[in-house]
Amino acid sequence: MSEAIAFLPPRPEVLSRRAEILADLKGLVPQGRLVEERNALVPFETDGFIAYRRRPLAVVLPETTAQVAAVMKYCHRYGIPVVPRGAGTSLSGGAIPQEDAVVLGLSAMTRIIEVDYANRCATVQAGVTNLAISDAVGADGYFYAPDPSSQLACTIGGNIAMNSGGAHCLKYGVTTNNLLGVKMVLVDGTVVDLGGKHLDAEGYDLLGLVCGSEGQLGIVTEATVRLLAKPEGARPVLFGFDSAEEAGSCVADVIGAGIIPVAIEFMDKPAIEICEAFAKAGYPLDVEALLIVEVEGSEAEMDAMLAAIVEIAKRHGVKTVRESQSATEAALIWKGRKSAFGATGRIADYICMDGTVPLSKLAYVLRKTSEIIDRYGLRVANVFHAGDGNMHPLILYNINDPEDAAKAEAAGMEILKLCVDAGGCLTGEHGVGIEKRDLMLHQFTQVDLDQQMAVRSAFDADWILNPSKVFPLEGRA
Ligand SMILES: Cc1cc2nc3c(=O)[nH]c(=O)nc-3n(C[C@H](O)[C@H](O)[C@H](O)COP(=O)(O)OP(=O)(O)OC[C@H]3O[C@@H](n4cnc5c(N)ncnc54)[C@H](O)[C@@H]3O)c2cc1C
Repeated sequence: MSEAIAFLPPRPEVLSRRAEILADLKGLVPQGRLVEERNALVPFETDGFIAYRRRPLAVVLPETTAQVAAVMKYCHRYGIPVVPRGAGTSLSGGAIPQEDAVVLGLSAMTRIIEVDYANRCATVQAGVTNLAISDAVGADGYFYAPDPSSQLACTIGGNIAMNSGGAHCLKYGVTTNNLLGVKMVLVDGTVVDLGGKHLDAEGYDLLGLVCGSEGQLGIVTEATVRLLAKPEGARPVLFGFDSAEEAGSCVADVIGAGIIPVAIEFMDKPAIEICEAFAKAGYPLDVEALLIVEVEGSEAEMDAMLAAIVEIAKRHGVKTVRESQSATEAALIWKGRKSAFGATGRIADYICMDGTVPLSKLAYVLRKTSEIIDRYGLRVANVFHAGDGNMHPLILYNINDPEDAAKAEAAGMEILKLCVDAGGCLTGEHGVGIEKRDLMLHQFTQVDLDQQMAVRSAFDADWILNPSKVFPLEGRA
């Protein structure tokens, strides 16, 4: 476990009242929905950013908005920090608690409240998983577009808090582009509705503000999301290259030519080997880099778009072009890509970076990333959403070796700074959380951060919502 990132010191006045607080919380949620035993709290100590962990004061698992409101009203009254939590898959440590915090878990709120095809939307409770929405409407020819690779587990509430993306967001946009409304509990327990079933909210775009606010402006308890009609057909195609840089340049030229496939995913050689060993997807093993490009539409539309992409790929010396020949093969190609993080976890511990760069800098940043990794004597596997310039170097290390862990963290921070210096940003989709908090001043000036913190304070003057995250501890307003 690493200790390079500091948490806020626990509030003694909260720790000393633990027994009383637990007794009070017990009265606010149904029986069995308060977790207080030491061992039962262990699963809530960390999330997908496993290098850090803290045991929370307690965990509550409400089932209704009214119960969430009651818990918030109580915690606000007594100045008790609250860390919202969905499925705990955050890769930036967004859901890691602190010792004086009540974790407010939304995972018991799993009801699909309404499917409304006339208005092309669905309203669901915050704990519904991303994939469950598409599953609920798939037989009727619809789907919910943002598709994080964690979609089997992650919740729509977590997706909203992190403004999550996924492979198919190149064409369809990320969570904020597919969200119509939320029901949210404010820090003092007041319940508000933002947006609705229509596009664009009246007044200030508070919905846009809430999306990506990492659980610091309120607790989302319900979401209304857009449903899209499934395309006529879809075809993933594998493009193998002899160098990562050629693959990166090819992506920039495809997008630069005005061609927007549904997805363009990138894997370097280590990632290809790791994913192929896991999924047996038929990825070519004799190439240095692989692009998975998915086109969709009618057969004629797919053929035309593919032909244009193949022409560009040839200019970059593409070595292999292989179209999926069946639905089974297409599913395997995506299984390999979407299992990349899990498959990597089979061979080593890893931290997953999440910087975004302008597409014209993709090849340059890939080269510099490998120089940084070599300098630290580490290994990396690159697998990411290339079409959006959203890079995910997976830095391999041994979590039980503090020196190795420190090196991995330091290399990761250098890579994120590289992304910012190349004109990109610290996070494409995983959020700032605790992981990138101390790099925020590399991206923003103190004046920028003061403005953002003023907005946060307008919602939560005492900073009890997820307080250790997003903003550097020093220089807080
Ligand atoms: C294997 C793997 C693959 C992944 N692939 C992707 C990917 O392709 N794209 C991508 O964007 N992300 C990806 N992620 C990251 C992660 O899955 C997303 O950030 C996801 O949205 C988190 O959802 P969650 O329900 O697990 O939220 P949690 O991890 O529980 O929480 C995440 C944040 O949201 C806040 N939060 C949770 N619920 C609420 C709520 N109801 N109201 C207010 N705040 C709330 C928490 O406080 C925290 O700050 C991946 C993670 C893993 C482990």
